[in-house]
Amino acid sequence: MTKPRRRIAATVCQSCGMPLRLDAADRPDSGSPDDPSFCSHCYGAGKFVLPDLTLEQMQARVLTKLRKVGVPESRARTLTRRIPSLQRWKART
Ligand SMILES: [Zn+2]
Repeated sequence: MTKPRRRIAATVCQSCGMPLRLDAADRPDSGSPDDPSFCSHCYGAGKFVLPDLTLEQMQARVLTKLRKVGVPESRARTLTRRIPSLQRWKART
């Protein structure tokens, strides 16, 4: 088996932390025409989908989503903890 190449660091949504590669499946043109830093769930038509979402709300949403897709609790919490360091939230502090 060959290992898939992983370059996660620069390729996650800068709002929710989701790998943009996964998002490309829902988006045939792959890559948002508005801003390639965000996934289609967070950003579309030139603005955030949920502009008033707080950091805490985003973390809760992501944690719920990760649990739902079967991500182990410890991994889900690690992924959720890094959200404050993403571009969208860093700019607010
Ligand atoms: Zn996102």
